[in-house]
Amino acid sequence: MAFTLPELPFAKDALAPHISSKILDFHYGKHHAGYVTKLNAAVEADSSLAGKSLEDLIKTQSGGVFNNAAQVWNHTFYWNSMSPNGGGEPTGAIKDAIDKAFGSFGDFKDKFTKAAGGHFGSGWAWLVKEESGNLAIVDTHDAGSPLTKGQTPILTCDVWEHAYYLDYQNARPSYIEAWWNLVNWDFANKNL
Ligand code: MN
Repeated sequence: MAFTLPELPFAKDALAPHISSKILDFHYGKHHAGYVTKLNAAVEADSSLAGKSLEDLIKTQSGGVFNNAAQVWNHTFYWNSMSPNGGGEPTGAIKDAIDKAFGSFGDFKDKFTKAAGGHFGSGWAWLVKEESGNLAIVDTHDAGSPLTKGQTPILTCDVWEHAYYLDYQNARPSYIEAWWNLVNWDFANKNL
């Protein structure tokens, strides 16, 4: 069974003005789709990979198979981390967990913004739940996935240049500020 590109959970123009439909044309339509195509080619070329789930491939493979599998998973998770009705302050269990781990939403926002803005080169900033149950902010390089470290992803922000260059050029901080207007707290609560 080949992997397929999941539908976006919103219309392509629904994240504007924070993220334009032009970015989604490329980021979803070319980059995310490209990872799916490359992953399917790699799995087809190696019969030992047949029938493995995306999570299996991420946890057991390296090199190109890992990179493409993780990028397929990470992007799907990233789209779901955003919503046209998102942003603002967290509510429910995620609010309590953030307050407990970071002191306040403002402190969490500062720390996450620094992790995303300060990440060198391509990668991802994540809010994760550690095996201990505590929340933590981590950043991963390139296709890096918290799943390989036993962490449960709660939210992610893609900081590869392809995530923002068409709208913000090199101004990653402006993109991260815009991302906060889209954060899907319902999705975070589901993942917690
Ligand atoms: Mn990306």
